[in-house]
Formats: sequence, C-alpha cells, structure tokens
Amino acid sequence: MLRNLKKIVPQVTEQWRAYSTPASGFSLKLTNEQRDIQELARKFAREEIAPAAAHHDRTGEFPWDIVKKAHSIGLMNGHIPQDVGGMGLNAFDSCLVTEELAWGCTGILLAIEGTCLGQTPVVLAGNAEQKKKYLGRLLEEPLLAAYCVTEPGTGSDVSGIKTKAEKKGDEYIINGQKMWITNGGVANWYFVLARTNPDPKSPASKAFTAFIVDRDTPGITPGRKEINMGQRASDTRGVTFEDVRVPKENVLMGEGAGFKIAMLTFDKTRPPVAAGAVGLAQRAMDEATKYALERKTFGVPIAHHQAVAFMLAEMAMGVELGRLSWQKACFEVDNKTPKKSMFASIAKCFASDMANKVASDAVQVFGGNGFNSEYPVEKLMRDAKIYQIYEGTSQIQRLVISRELIEAAKKGLQ
Ligand SMILES: Cc1cc2nc3c(=O)[nH]c(=O)nc-3n(C[C@H](O)[C@H](O)[C@H](O)COP(=O)(O)OP(=O)(O)OC[C@H]3O[C@@H](n4cnc5c(N)ncnc54)[C@H](O)[C@@H]3O)c2cc1C
Repeated sequence: MLRNLKKIVPQVTEQWRAYSTPASGFSLKLTNEQRDIQELARKFAREEIAPAAAHHDRTGEFPWDIVKKAHSIGLMNGHIPQDVGGMGLNAFDSCLVTEELAWGCTGILLAIEGTCLGQTPVVLAGNAEQKKKYLGRLLEEPLLAAYCVTEPGTGSDVSGIKTKAEKKGDEYIINGQKMWITNGGVANWYFVLARTNPDPKSPASKAFTAFIVDRDTPGITPGRKEINMGQRASDTRGVTFEDVRVPKENVLMGEGAGFKIAMLTFDKTRPPVAAGAVGLAQRAMDEATKYALERKTFGVPIAHHQAVAFMLAEMAMGVELGRLSWQKACFEVDNKTPKKSMFASIAKCFASDMANKVASDAVQVFGGNGFNSEYPVEKLMRDAKIYQIYEGTSQIQRLVISRELIEAAKKGLQ
C-alpha cells in the first residue's frame, strides 16, 4: 500500500528550510521525512512504473493510468507553492522523487514530470490569479502543462524564435509553429513564448512575451505524436498556432519579460533533468551488476574479470558524482545563490554525459544480449540520449558554464 506524499510533506519542508540556510553549510544527511519521500517514490517506481515500461516503450501509448495514480498519491506537482494549495517542495526534495521515478522508466517519468517545465514559469512569474487558475487546476485534477518555446527553425538559439503575438485591443493574436513540445498533445494549457516586438534590433530581453494559453483555444493544432529514439512513453509533438486569441490577463509579468522568464525557468528545471539522468544510470548499473554475477565465461562470472569489474566501478563513480552534482545544484538553487545557473548547468551536463556512458557500458557488459530488446539495457541506452539534448544541449551547458567562469575571472582581474 502506497502512502500519500502530502501526509509526509508538512513536516519536511519546514525542517529542510531550516537546515538549508546558507549559514548551516552543506550536509549529505537526509532527514527522516526526506527518506520517507524517497522510499515512497522508490516503491512507486518499482511497483507501478518498471513493470509497465517495456509496454509503453513498444507502443508509445501515453501512460495516463500511471500519471493519474502518481497524482492521487502526491507524486506530481510537488513544487507548486503552498499559498496556491500545493506542497511547496524545494528543488532538493523534488529531485529525490525524480531520481527514484527515473529508475523505473525515464519516458514514464517525463509523462509524470514534464508538466513541471510548463508550470515553472507560472510559479516564478505568475500573479495570484494566474497561479490560482492554472496551477490550482493541476492540483485538483491530473491535468498537464507544456512549455512551448522550441520551433522547427531554432532550439538552442531561443532569441531566433519566429512565433509572433500582436496586440489587438485587450487580446494578443498568436501565430507560429512550435516543435518538439513535451506533452504537446496531452496538455491542458501551454506556456508559449512569442515575439511581440517585430523590430529585429530589439534585444531579446525586451522583444519576447510569455503567455499562458488554454489548449482548447480555437486555432491550436497539435501535430502527430513524434516517434523518438527513446523515452517513447512521453508525448512529443509540434503545435501550430493560427490566429490564437489570448486575453491580456494571460501575459506573464508583462510585455517584453518573456525571454527572461523562459531562461530563469531552467535554473529550476535543469537539476531535475540531472536527477533523472542519475536515476537512469543507477538502473543501468544495477542491471549490469546483476547480469555480471549471473553470466559466466571461461568458467567464472564475468564480474570476476577485472575488465568487467572496472566497468562497474566506473559506473559507480559516475552515478555517485552525478548524484552529488544534482544535490549541489539544488543547494545553490534552493538558497538562490548567484551561481545557481552555473551549478544547474554543471549538473545537467555532467549527469547527462555520465548517463550516456553508463548506459552504453551496461550494453557492453551484457554483450550480444545487451543489443537486444528482450533485455533492459538497450532501452536505457536509447532513453539516455535525449538527456544531452533537451533543456539545453550539452554544448549549450558548456557555454553557460564557461561564460560564468570567464566573467568571474575577468572581474577578478579588474
Ligand atoms: C524529445 C524532446 C523533447 C523536447 N521537449 C521540449 C519542450 O517541452 N519544449 C521546448 O520548447 N523544447 C523541447 N525540446 C527541444 C529541445 O530543447 C531542443 O531540441 C534543443 O534545445 C536543441 O535545439 P535544436 O534541436 O534546435 O538543435 P540546434 O539548436 O539546431 O543544435 C544543433 C547542434 O548544434 C549545437 N549548437 C547549437 N548552437 C551551438 C553553440 N552556440 N555552440 C556550440 N554548439 C551549438 C547543439 O548543441 C547541437 O549539437 C525537446 C526536444 C526533444 C527531442
């Protein structure tokens, strides 16, 4: 019988807030309540997600039943603030859940948590009415949000987006096309970034506006579900906006603030991506270790060959460091330090690259069986790849990290 996270949380947030003040430093010890959160998510991953993973990978069917169950026991939307009726989990506690769910299947994890990417701009920049209306509805029912920024012509270079919004009276009219939108076909509402200043010389910091757009607004057409390499349980689509009328009340923060909101969102959402990658890597290592003890060659389990044992050791090093990287990033984010963006990027980049290496090495440990879909690791290798692409590619993370480093060094030299 699974407990309800909402019953654990009232104690944990207060304890963790006290414990994570800058003055108290950095501790790796989880509170009892944090261990309870972790245990609940672990049980859900093993009992509900893992058994269904192969089916959803094969069929691409959206795992609504699992999403509804996760919602009913409080494993969704944990970060929605308490003043809106949510649990108000901080980044660290949310990531404890993410890492555990990822162990079961990162495609199903994305179906459960992809909604947070659409919600976070509203958490960060929404006014009281917007939060109540759009976040409140997600708490009441198992509904999902989506983050519509990427377009067919541009992903990494967000300032290149072409979707435009024109103000007409008390409304904005949105026209354009978005691409690769997680939850594109299943969301109840979208966060949409559009250009409101047509002047190409207008700086990104002023040219774009962020909107909340109800899915059932006339003029919105989600495309076909994309058939991706991995994380196939998730719903990825293009979404077309044709003369979509949005009331001015649905502008986040004000005209021109969109780019900033879209970027600030990543500080909050990159650590969970890192935590997901760590959960996947942990699963790959667990599967590889088990197999290495069962499979025999030359009269001994392959784990007894040093070359194989050292691959497992490399996996353990990667998993542990990946975990530390998301924990450190969450510490910076929860304490709102000036270096939070850099640490969010370090975690996202390190954990994504690490998960790809660990999953690939797990396939190697399985030998020929690893290449076959009857065994679990080929799926893990396919699922791992997207971590280096979405929410900013590994190259873009390195850009963020190096820019911060160089800026800090320049200031030191002045
Ligand atoms: C399954 C999936 C789900 C997604 N979900 C969402 C979503 O919910 N919402 C959303 O808005 N987007 C989403 N995306 C889009 C994703 O964020 C983009 O694909 C990603 O940011 C990369 O953009 P791009 O595909 O246009 O690649 P490009 O920007 O064209 O990049 C191509 C290559 O060039 C490299 N590159 C680009 N610029 C530089 C540079 N300055 N320096 C060094 N290298 C560079 C990139 O790292 C990459 O290797 C999703 C994508 C996928 C595949």
